[in-house]
Amino acid sequence: MFPSLKYTEKEVDDYLKNVSADIVCGSLAKVRHDWFDLLNLISETARPFIPEMRRIAQVARRRYYGKTVSVYAPLYIGNTCINACLYCDFRRQHTGTMRRNLTLDEIRAEANAIRRTGIDSLLVVAGEDPKVNTIAHLIEVGKLLKPMFSYLALEVAPQTEEGYRQLFMAGYEGLTCFQETYDQTLYREMHPAGPKADYAWRLNTQLRAGRAGFRVLGCAFLLGLGTWQREAASLAAHAFYLMRECWEAKVQFAFPRICSVDGGFVPPCEVCEDDMEQMMLAFRIVFPQCCMTVSTREAPKFRDFIVQTAADNMSAGSRVTPGGYTVSKQGRTCRDHKADVAQFTLSDRRTPAEVFAAIRANGQEVVFKNWDSRI
Ligand code: SF4
Repeated sequence: MFPSLKYTEKEVDDYLKNVSADIVCGSLAKVRHDWFDLLNLISETARPFIPEMRRIAQVARRRYYGKTVSVYAPLYIGNTCINACLYCDFRRQHTGTMRRNLTLDEIRAEANAIRRTGIDSLLVVAGEDPKVNTIAHLIEVGKLLKPMFSYLALEVAPQTEEGYRQLFMAGYEGLTCFQETYDQTLYREMHPAGPKADYAWRLNTQLRAGRAGFRVLGCAFLLGLGTWQREAASLAAHAFYLMRECWEAKVQFAFPRICSVDGGFVPPCEVCEDDMEQMMLAFRIVFPQCCMTVSTREAPKFRDFIVQTAADNMSAGSRVTPGGYTVSKQGRTCRDHKADVAQFTLSDRRTPAEVFAAIRANGQEVVFKNWDSRI
């Protein structure tokens, strides 16, 4: 569980088992919600209330985000990594992956390709490789990209508070760092080696970034590793904690789900779409002001639906390999293509234009830019 929670896993499980329909109705009727409301809304008892949860979540979402959906794209600048996360094909022992770190010229080419689609918010992603992705390198990348995009976020190895301060000055304003699991025993099993094995260092990443000035703090666990209700209870506790400690920043939720793939990692606690929808609705109701993104790991039908009731933000036309937008398409051989393993399997393979069209077909507006620190 999230370490500062004063409840054990067993106490949370027992609480969830004893939620009654009246308690769920009480949580749905409230205007301001607390951590127990989140538990009530993710309980098994709340499952028949999903239609009502959709209605309430949609109102909450509209109140803060209107009929809009913000769009962004990830840019993978490198996939070398010294960690050993059991569920990731970028882990250091996985020899089947073609490893590369883009040069600044290649990063510019990728960024131009993204920019041509209209997307104006960028998430810069890299594996944990302290020799390559130094603060100095990330600052160079930030300075290159900042004039091209209104909003830059980072999903790289956790840094010190001072490191984040320098990255913020270079133009990055958002941070994404998935805790993967809040269960410390499971965390040790899944991350047997490398700097990521340090649970506490990773857990306090958002806190360090928030103190350094980052204005969007992305949190998540990996759906499929641990029991989703316990993980969701911890994620909510983490969010309440960050809202107190970094009150000037905005918490952003993501719900990245891993599914079994042939010959791949088999998640110990697979999460189905119905579970995920219930969880996303519960978070939207309890945290109406927070950002919420829906992953390209999910199918188009689910993504198009959930951005109407819970999520306010989605990626479009994502490529999850370094050079995936344009660089690796030049002069690539068939053999290269097979070795070009992505970090995870994409389910939504639509082009950005197709994603924008689907958003508009549902009566929503596509937002390319909702912030500009360059002004
Ligand atoms: S999940 Fe991240 S840290 Fe872990 S092996 Fe993959 S790229 Fe490296």
